[in-house]
Parts: sequence; structure tokens; C-alpha cells
Amino acid sequence: MLNIILFGPPGAGKGTQSEKLIEKYKLKHLSTGDIFRANIKGATELGTLAKSYMDKGQLVPDEVTIGMLESEVNKNNDANGFIFDGFPRTKVQAEALDNLLKSKSTSITIMLALEVEEEELKKRLLLRGKDSGRADDQNPDVIQKRIDVYNNETSPVKDYFTAQGKYKGIHGIGEINEIFNSLCKEIDAVK
Ligand code: AMP
Repeated sequence: MLNIILFGPPGAGKGTQSEKLIEKYKLKHLSTGDIFRANIKGATELGTLAKSYMDKGQLVPDEVTIGMLESEVNKNNDANGFIFDGFPRTKVQAEALDNLLKSKSTSITIMLALEVEEEELKKRLLLRGKDSGRADDQNPDVIQKRIDVYNNETSPVKDYFTAQGKYKGIHGIGEINEIFNSLCKEIDAVK
């Protein structure tokens, strides 16, 4: 199995690159943000809970997020592999993911991190807010909070996978196809 974590701050381009990667490598795309948004749209209990955190730019609690992610992985036992997009966002989530994959006799192949500087992220998110209608992309305070949460809570996940020799940083500014080619080069070197 090819199991990729696409890592990076909000607005780094994870969603855009995931779409291209799943097509090329025939992987199952699991974006926790997308799953939460689908639940909000469907007015589920999980959606209501998630929304109360997402609207403030905070992380949805680990036990909720991990439970949801595990059930999505379990629904896709026939997948060739996964792209985890927006997960893990804490060290606890990273450990839970490792344990889950281990129980399925597989593991994370590589963590690819899209590196983009903060000012560029803010510009991109505000622009996306205009097009997508995402509430959390329209409020500069919420955007700042999400970037702060990334720096304080999510960024340590990088050290966790660096210690396993699986972390690869990719320059996330430039042409979409150019960035995609850099990602593919790293994947092809380990798959
Ligand atoms: P994203 O679409 O990945 O930018 O996620 C949007 C929002 O969903 C985040 O700001 C969090 O509130 C929530 N979220 C998504 N993934 C996670 C996660 N792995 N852990 C906790 N909260 C998450």
C-alpha cells in the first residue's frame, strides 16, 4: 500500500494537489476537513459539533476526529492506499494513525509537506473565501487563529515523522504542475 500524508498549513495547496495525486496513483483521498464539511451540510450531530470548533478556527477534539478517520479507513479496506489530507494535526492523531495502519499490517510511506510562507497563505485563504464561500476563509481573525493553531499544535507532527525518516518538505509556491511534479518525484523514489 502507498499511504501518503499531505501536510502543510491551511492554504498550502493540499486539496488541489490531493486531487491530482489520487488520479495518478489511484489512492483514496481522506480529507478530515471535507468530511466535517459534508457532515455540516448533512446537518448530522458530528457536523454540528465540528462546526462549533471550525467557525472559531480551533481543532475539533482528537477523540472525535480520530474516531471519524478510523471509520473512514475501515470503510475502504480494498483501497490501494490513502492520501491523508489535513490529518494528523496533533501528535496524538499521528500516534493513532500509526497504530491504526499497524493493525492493518501497513504504515505511512511518506509525509510530504507543502511549505508556504504566512503572508502568502493569508492572501490565498482570503481569495478562496471569496470563491468557495467557506466561512472560515472569510474572516481574517479566524485565518490567523488557524495559522497559529498550525504553528503551535500541528507543526510538531513534522518532528514525529522526521524521527521516522519519512518527512519531505516541498516548496509550495509556483505553478501547480511544477509542485505536483516535485511531489511525484518524492513518491516515485519511495514507492
Ligand atoms: P481544513 O479543510 O483541513 O482546512 O480543515 C478545516 C477545519 O476543520 C479546521 O480548521 C479544523 O477546525 C477542522 N479539522 C480538519 N481536520 C482536522 C483534524 N485532523 N483535527 C482537528 N480538526 C480538524
